[in-house]
Amino acid sequence: MTEISNPDCLFCKIAAGTIPVKWLHEDGQILAFNDINPQAPVHVLLIPKQHFTSHAHTTAGDTAILGQLLATAREVAKAQGLANGYRLVINTGLDGGQTVEHLHVHLLGGRHLGWPPG
Ligand code: AMP
Ligand code: ZN
Repeated sequence: MTEISNPDCLFCKIAAGTIPVKWLHEDGQILAFNDINPQAPVHVLLIPKQHFTSHAHTTAGDTAILGQLLATAREVAKAQGLANGYRLVINTGLDGGQTVEHLHVHLLGGRHLGWPPG
């Protein structure tokens, strides 16, 4: 069963306001804030307020929140002035390089981004 909130989770604490961050977007279900260790001039994280350990932990019933994350990322990218493009990344699990175990979308932009990733 998916937990609504995990007391030991960093991003749940941010979602709950226990750890304060500057919100770039906030609604009933999603929060966006700047990454503490930016890898590009714009590096925003978008998280569902609900705790999902990773993208792989979502299920067929979570299609709406997954869609809302992508749609919100588009709006935040617009608001951040990323008219030349941007990249969305969801690191998942050990091989995906995920370090914070709460589903999050990286929005990166403001410079040309190389490919492939490391
Ligand atoms: P990932 O490696 O995909 O799990 O991404 C986790 C991201 O969370 C990294 O880019 C970190 O820099 C970022 N991060 C960790 N702690 C914080 C924090 N307190 N506020 C904002 N971003 C954070
Ligand atoms: Zn969490």
